[in-house]
Amino acid sequence: MGDSFYFCTSIMTDKFFAKQLLSWHHLENDRVLPWKGEKDPYKIWLSEIILQQTRAEQGLPYYERFISTYPTIEALAAAPDQEVFKLWQGLGYYSRCRNLLATARQVVSEYGGKFPDQYTEIIKLKGIGPYTAAAIASFAFGRPVPVIDGNVYRVLARYFAEPEPIDTTTGKKKFNELVTSVFDARQPAAFNQAIMDLGASVCTPKQAKCEQCFLSEGCRAFGQNNIYMFPVKTKKIAVRHRYFNYYILEVDDELYLQQRPAGDVWHDLYEFFLVESAAEGTDSIDFLDESLIEEVDRHVFTSKQRLTHQLIESRFSVIRLKEKPAPGLGNGAWVKKINVKNYPFPKTIISFLEEMPYFSIEL
Ligand code: SF4
Repeated sequence: MGDSFYFCTSIMTDKFFAKQLLSWHHLENDRVLPWKGEKDPYKIWLSEIILQQTRAEQGLPYYERFISTYPTIEALAAAPDQEVFKLWQGLGYYSRCRNLLATARQVVSEYGGKFPDQYTEIIKLKGIGPYTAAAIASFAFGRPVPVIDGNVYRVLARYFAEPEPIDTTTGKKKFNELVTSVFDARQPAAFNQAIMDLGASVCTPKQAKCEQCFLSEGCRAFGQNNIYMFPVKTKKIAVRHRYFNYYILEVDDELYLQQRPAGDVWHDLYEFFLVESAAEGTDSIDFLDESLIEEVDRHVFTSKQRLTHQLIESRFSVIRLKEKPAPGLGNGAWVKKINVKNYPFPKTIISFLEEMPYFSIEL
């Protein structure tokens, strides 16, 4: 008896959820963004990759630049790596850009430039996880696949007052069940867009607008007056502290630049000569023959950049040299200052270049 009673309540709640959600979205709350209502899988994919770990307002100009520079997936696939990295510059998380190129080239070479239209095929592409695959499958091809991003986790966790953490395998399974229970398979694109928008504009992380929320009547966390307890997370991210000592080596009108190695942050981007030290205050310039040094300006700029698992403190020193060291310093190259702007850099280096009008390098 108890079970059947619960079952009835659950079904009523779930119907209420999808119906209310879709009418709310239809009426007045459809956020206007260029990728909204988009059916072209290339544009959907591009917007999703740009928006991973990036706010919509920040990602929007990048999306527009990418679409105007590379209007088709063929154009993107044919572009030189360095040009694409330059366009991506400032968005961070450069592995996304590498995957973007790899996938564009794979779709062109293996699928004749047409995105596969099944979730199970889309998810095999590089850099495409369950969220992006579901977005492409539902928005471009109308497949009945629910999308679960951070906004959806938050809405569901609060609506169901779900105690299962969202960052465990069991939790992810649980949330898949929850979204399936409220999902409207007849209108997958509309449902997915509406629930993501609800999380982004009403059921927000810090200042949820429960008093304006059409779901408040059935929302368990709201009923219990503890919405900020949800969603539950278990994992704490361990942060590695690193100290980068950058030396801007200058000979006449040239600077020394090198490319970041594979297997570390900012892979493929460019930087100045770097000595990483184990602790702050331990930088030394004994990699250079003293007789070559004309002038040293130590620590002209410092910066901190927080990545997901790392905190990188960088200090920049400018060293003017009488001539180039022989046999050389590593795998880098000497680049004319006026050409420095053509190279893609991580955010830390960009901040330095912007702060140092001395170089008068236009970015
Ligand atoms: S009532 Fe509040 S907590 Fe519940 S879904 Fe709406 S905004 Fe989120």
